[in-house]
Amino acid sequence: MLTKALAALSLAITCQAQAITIFACEPEWAALTKVLLPEAGVRTATTHLQDPHHIEARPSLIAQLRGADFAVCTGAELEAGWLPMLQERAGNPKVQNGQPTMFYAAQHVELVDPFKGAITPFSGDVHAHGNPHLHTDPRRFMQVAKALANRLGSVFPDKKPLVDQNLGKFDADMSSKLLAWEKQAAALKGRAVITQHATFGYLWLWLGLRPIADLEPKPGVPPTAAHLEKIMALSQSQQPVGIVIAQHHDPKPGRWLASSMGMPSKMLILPATVVDERPDSIIRWFDQVIAQLSALAK
Ligand SMILES: [Zn+2]
Repeated sequence: MLTKALAALSLAITCQAQAITIFACEPEWAALTKVLLPEAGVRTATTHLQDPHHIEARPSLIAQLRGADFAVCTGAELEAGWLPMLQERAGNPKVQNGQPTMFYAAQHVELVDPFKGAITPFSGDVHAHGNPHLHTDPRRFMQVAKALANRLGSVFPDKKPLVDQNLGKFDADMSSKLLAWEKQAAALKGRAVITQHATFGYLWLWLGLRPIADLEPKPGVPPTAAHLEKIMALSQSQQPVGIVIAQHHDPKPGRWLASSMGMPSKMLILPATVVDERPDSIIRWFDQVIAQLSALAK
């Protein structure tokens, strides 16, 4: 009887030790966490249909952060409008800034385009520390993957061999895909593109596209008719390859501009991040983005 009870107790302790709960601010980091540590229970604060600058600090998110052993977010102020409040209300010491169990992707890559002007409450979603939408560059994505694997291995040392093994496989898959994607998108190099927000800023840099105009007059501020007319005048001579916006943006201004410029078929709406969190979702997302963008150049 006692042996049985002891066995049950030991099983319970083992189960408890294995149940790692991870909170991810964005779907791309949830997907990456599942690649590296598939056994972890991962909760995601946002979806590909939401603007990660703006979500509501719902009670369910506070509860999820309260129960997390580890959190992975982008940082660089992407979540400035909601994460600090969640961290405060969750009251979980593990997910406070400065803790090894609070991981920020932006601290592990070089960011571009820091906002240079004076920042006021009316400035919009400016990127004072540089563009935080860094996951759209697969090379930066891999830098984050390596840093996250390193961190997970150090805070959960018994998981390190597994995490390292998963990182090795992911790195090999991404490296072989990287060359294929660059080849597929070669016709886009040097072409002009009209965008909305800096959502795909790192993608343009990687593929050599030239963003010539932003539908937003100021970061995070919706397009206005006057601003769109200005873009139209400016872009006529540059023959942009297309107008590319994210799924969480309102498609109407882009559609109006595309048809006014006589290129209605060149308006492309892309998911700004992975659309599910299955292990192959990261590669599938890049596959989709590259295929749809490359089609614009045809
Ligand atoms: Zn932004």
